Amino acid sequence: MRAPVTAYVALGANLGDTQQAVRAAMDRLGQLPRSKVTARSSLYRTAPVGTTGPDFINAVVRLDTSLPAPVLLDALLALEQAAGRERPWPNAPRTLDLDLLLYGDARIASARLTVPHPRMNERAFVLVPLAEIAPGRVPPQAIAALTCQVIARIP
Ligand code: AMP
Repeated sequence: MRAPVTAYVALGANLGDTQQAVRAAMDRLGQLPRSKVTARSSLYRTAPVGTTGPDFINAVVRLDTSLPAPVLLDALLALEQAAGRERPWPNAPRTLDLDLLLYGDARIASARLTVPHPRMNERAFVLVPLAEIAPGRVPPQAIAALTCQVIARIP
């Protein structure tokens, strides 16, 4: 039996009932085999970065999991599919987007998986919710560099 690894997964949606989609995905992540959601950030409303379209709802969860990272990625993609995710063009509005941010301290650079997520430090919509549940994993200066990005915590 593998020892559990502490992973962090970013959730986002900007199509359909976005708050419901993100909350439901948090529940479904906790139902993955050999996995448990051990922290949930608040939900945040954010303006799109690098694309146009409706605002996003974003959040991050901590997942203690014994799934190997590639198996976890497959599970994330399956949850996106089950939520009706389509990819008509790059950065199209999405019913659900799940990104594996961190998998313990692993550094992974395979054809289909890069961890830590290569763009996480450019995105306030990732770093702000991540800092809420894992402040030790986010350098304060990284967030300070992104203050121009609009992000509002949903009370
Ligand atoms: P996207 O369409 O932006 O959701 O990108 C999904 C694709 O990015 C997946 O098919 C993965 O193979 C790839 N990918 C690479 N690294 C990661 C990661 N850390 N988390 C999620 N997807 C990743």
